[in-house]
Amino acid sequence: MNWFTLSTTDGDARAGVLHTAHGDVPTPAFMPVGTKGSVKAVAPDELRALGVTILLGNAYHLHFRPGEEVVAELGGLHSFMSWDGPILTDSGGFQVFSLRDTLLGTDDDGVTFRSVYDGRAERFTPELAARIQELLGSDVAMCLDICPPAGVPRAELEQAVRRTTLWARRQRDLPRAPGQLRFAITQGGLDPELRRRSSEELAALDFDGYAVGGLSVGEHRPPMFEATTHAAVLLPEDKPRYFMGIGDPEGVIEVIARGIDMFDCVLPTRTARTGSALTWEGRLNLRNARFARDARPLDEDCACPACTSFTRAYIRHLVNQQEILGLRLLSLHNLRFLIDLVAAARHAIERGAFASWRTDALDRLARPTVELT
Ligand SMILES: [Zn+2]
Repeated sequence: MNWFTLSTTDGDARAGVLHTAHGDVPTPAFMPVGTKGSVKAVAPDELRALGVTILLGNAYHLHFRPGEEVVAELGGLHSFMSWDGPILTDSGGFQVFSLRDTLLGTDDDGVTFRSVYDGRAERFTPELAARIQELLGSDVAMCLDICPPAGVPRAELEQAVRRTTLWARRQRDLPRAPGQLRFAITQGGLDPELRRRSSEELAALDFDGYAVGGLSVGEHRPPMFEATTHAAVLLPEDKPRYFMGIGDPEGVIEVIARGIDMFDCVLPTRTARTGSALTWEGRLNLRNARFARDARPLDEDCACPACTSFTRAYIRHLVNQQEILGLRLLSLHNLRFLIDLVAAARHAIERGAFASWRTDALDRLARPTVELT
């Protein structure tokens, strides 16, 4: 089965289609994060209406609550959460290694840590990561990797690269859900030589797709984008490329420009819950008094449920009064804004006009907001 069609390239940017057991995903694609089997405050039919084509679920959280056995008994994650479209699950590696205080030890066999739910010592291995995702029944399963934070000594990065390959090799041939694709994750931080080593070792294992991991973990942005340029070209051209953990408008444009096909982030929904909207005028903090009498929609160009029916003044009022509807409307808007942005990038790639679209889009996003007084 050919599960990825690369249809157009424009410079390094790519447009294609990821074919999964639950449907096709046009790429580039943004994946909203449904950490615990729910994109916070947004129902599946609403996600569909926003144009969402694929969701991300977290193996770590679903393993501890409610447990993959429970999800499997209820028909798998699609059925459990009532989303019949494609789902990618991460392996839990990112959560384990980003919650540094809970780490107890890593060895060649696996990693031991304290669960954030009850503090009990738990262990993840490639075998368990494969089993959890098999039972969840996701369309794309990720390999368990070691993701160190920015700035660790080179020896620690090198160890992470070595174990990530070791684990990927073990996880590759384990049982999987029907039609489930399996992606490996390259590591190496900002170190070009280690990134090359990780990419070459994993490419040789012939996975269905590849993620660039270990970036967007606290480093500065210019070196991160430089490392992305380097990391993307090391990956097989005919397979999907996934950048883990980016979801701000500028960042999304920059990784698409570097040949990335898929990305995920909690940013649109987390930003919404802090009372902020992503717009073509930059990020608006709706708590600000300047919106008290603002009769405009959040974004003039947006067709989301918030922008078609409500004013900034009303949403500001809801946010300041901690009305749930305010956070919901901002979540719907921020997701739609990012989905539309990525769709526009895709169209620009298909027209061979990505470079000028990118310049214009970044310029618009950076323009200082002009507010009526
Ligand atoms: Zn909107």
